[in-house]
Amino acid sequence: MQFVSTRGGSEPVSFSEAFANGLAPDGGLYVPKNLPMLPSDLLVEDALPYPALAWDFLSLFDSDHDSEKLIDIIDKSYGNFSDTMSAPLQQLGENVFVLELFHGPTLSFKDFGLQLIGNLFEEQIERTGQSINVLGATSGDTGSAAINGLAGKKGVNAFVLYPKGRISDLQERQMTCTGADNVFPIPIEGSFDDAQAIVKELMGDLKTKEDLRLSAINSINIVRILAQAIYYVHAYTQLPPENRDDVNFVVPTGNFGNIFAGWMVHQMGLPVDQFVIATNQNDILCRLFNTGDYEPEPVAPSYAPSMDIQLASNFERFLYYHNEKNADTTLSQMAEILTKGSLHIPDFDASNFEAVACSDEDILNNIRMVKEEYNYVVDPHTACGFQDLDPAKTHVVLATAHPAKFPDIINKAIGETPTEDSLEALKKKKQVTYPVEATADAVKAFIEKNSA
Ligand SMILES: *Cc1c(COP(=O)(O)O)cnc(C)c1O
Repeated sequence: MQFVSTRGGSEPVSFSEAFANGLAPDGGLYVPKNLPMLPSDLLVEDALPYPALAWDFLSLFDSDHDSEKLIDIIDKSYGNFSDTMSAPLQQLGENVFVLELFHGPTLSFKDFGLQLIGNLFEEQIERTGQSINVLGATSGDTGSAAINGLAGKKGVNAFVLYPKGRISDLQERQMTCTGADNVFPIPIEGSFDDAQAIVKELMGDLKTKEDLRLSAINSINIVRILAQAIYYVHAYTQLPPENRDDVNFVVPTGNFGNIFAGWMVHQMGLPVDQFVIATNQNDILCRLFNTGDYEPEPVAPSYAPSMDIQLASNFERFLYYHNEKNADTTLSQMAEILTKGSLHIPDFDASNFEAVACSDEDILNNIRMVKEEYNYVVDPHTACGFQDLDPAKTHVVLATAHPAKFPDIINKAIGETPTEDSLEALKKKKQVTYPVEATADAVKAFIEKNSA
């Protein structure tokens, strides 16, 4: 399978090249040239084991690795999940299900993409003999998942910038207590946007990118989207047959990556009625899908911090398909966002989507309601997915993180403090950080000095 850029200015590339490039050279995002149909036997009665399903799915896109290699990479990626189903579906009520995506090593759905990415980088380094430096910025979960996926791997060093004091203590510990000498968690003064701006500046300078052999881990990488598409199929095949008509997936959303993965697999034939976009008070996507107007506002910190985002980069992929794969239109729309700061999309077709937004108060109420009604504890991000659920229809709410990652907010809502063994163990470990001045030059110099 070939991958093309949403902006049309780059050559089509293979799976491995799209993976290695991250961002396409023209600044666009890679998408599969054609979306293949899901083989119908994937949607059979009983759920396949996760690695088998992952292989069936990924081999539709990856024509670079031979079967044995791909099987090996997949087994390494998902073999360390705490639940044998990897993404188990729990039934809470007659029509209400949660898809638990927090059984990976760092307890958020980010592990599905980043464990695979870590093992693909390892294979790439073995194949090319070229060591790499991975650079990213995080508001919490991406950084910990990326660091876990790369810790101890040969030929790769990981540099992850995060806003000092603005991520949770446990998220910080997941990054800083690994004991691995190839990971460099870098606290910087400022916000997530400041950290992200430094990464974008270094990545955007093609000479620096090449000199430092930089690779990206954020959800601009198409492999993360492909990896996340798999669990939608896994969820569907775990539903009781009587619930398989008119399935609604509810997705706590920030960057539009996770929900785009679901929408993509729906285009490939997964039967879905609606996708529900669930945002926190940073409701740009909710407003967009209700009005057709993309209008970023300043980020307001919320109880669901991993969704405190206003520039949903993966929306570009949806826009490309909405434009019926017209890259010229997509290019000019992305330019308009850059110059005008907003975009009006004429005849915006949101027919596959509904959208809800949650205030912090709603998040607390939803955590309480789910506990009272179903005796189940959801994390603050997942709580956004329980806003105004219609009990007449089948809903699968994606549980994006383990509640024990956010003990203070859960305690505020229901007076209980959830715990989890791997997180408890972190509290006894030594933290190692590498503070660097919050400028692109200082970060560049630090990477040069500590390069793989
Ligand atoms: C990253 C994250 C989200 C948002 O996912 P997107 O792909 O950015 O929409 C939601 N919940 C949690 C816990 C996350 O870590």
